[in-house]
Amino acid sequence: MRARHALALLTALLLPLLPGTQAAAPAAADAGPKLPPPPAGMFAPPGRSITHVAGDLYRANNVGWYVAVLVTPAGIVLVDTLNTDFAQWLKKALAERFPGKPVKYVIYSHSHWDHAEGGRVFADTATFIGQEGMLRNMDGRYPALPGDIVDRNEDGRLNIAEFEQPFLDRLWFCGSTRGAVTNKDTDHHGSITSAQFFADIVKPDIVYSERMTLRFGGKTMELVFPGKNHANDGTAVLFKDERVLFAVDFPADALVQASMRSLPSACGPFDGHPMSEWIKSYRTLEALDFDVLVGGHGTVAFRKQDITEGREYFEYLQHEVEGAMSRGLSLAQMREQLTLDRYKSWAHYAQLRPYNIEAAYHNLSIYK
Ligand SMILES: [Zn+2]
Repeated sequence: MRARHALALLTALLLPLLPGTQAAAPAAADAGPKLPPPPAGMFAPPGRSITHVAGDLYRANNVGWYVAVLVTPAGIVLVDTLNTDFAQWLKKALAERFPGKPVKYVIYSHSHWDHAEGGRVFADTATFIGQEGMLRNMDGRYPALPGDIVDRNEDGRLNIAEFEQPFLDRLWFCGSTRGAVTNKDTDHHGSITSAQFFADIVKPDIVYSERMTLRFGGKTMELVFPGKNHANDGTAVLFKDERVLFAVDFPADALVQASMRSLPSACGPFDGHPMSEWIKSYRTLEALDFDVLVGGHGTVAFRKQDITEGREYFEYLQHEVEGAMSRGLSLAQMREQLTLDRYKSWAHYAQLRPYNIEAAYHNLSIYK
């Protein structure tokens, strides 16, 4: 459901485990600590396939990571490309299923590598579109990343520990495996520059700030920047003719399977964006005119009500933690006393409730 953020990064660490991607696995010397597998069912479904959503809209998946595919008489529009190996598979699968239709546009859901890599496979025919924040994230400075991955040593480089430590601290919920860095660390420095990190992501040719309408092949798409939440350069795509909203990592992140009733992974202070911005982002999506929401994660189509429930969770959490802060409770007391009972049935409640309280506490302390 909601915040589902950090998890996304796991992709990087999942990739070496997946069939057909062994070539991307880091060299043995860079393999890092031996890890247990993710909990059963996490990041489902297995494999790759193209599945119908509505009208001329499809999704294609690489395990639990999905892209959108709109097929028009003039060619295909993709949202995201995931990684080079998947993009090569997708190009072939599309050519077989929809012959004679080149990919003419790639829209980026956001700049995080596990959704945005691989576009070069389509660069011979496609124009790339993203929210303008992508250019800031790709301009050479340390980018905004999910999962509590930040430039802890402030050296401007992306280091193995900055990706791996949050992951090891909260296995499968935050950070990323070191593969996200070591796969690109060709000179084995243990860190890479921002330029190296983004080497497999094609910069957008076209950017927009708040909204953009794309008319192509008789179809109309509305590109919407919901606000800052999981990412600071996100685009939700409203396929108007199909009445489907496609959104990635917000409101459904990689923890979401068949239900959005799942606590956010809450890594760091909610990805470094104020809770008020998260709530505003939910409201932006709720105000759009669509029948179903499908995402970069989640095995089913969701309803607008699922977005509303996600917003209500954030509002409730904010209310509870603000109240406790005003009563002078310590963070330790909050973790003990704020039971968030009404969300007991949501997935990951037992494990993530304390982290949600902690993230809200830090968020509300930082962004007053
Ligand atoms: Zn992401």
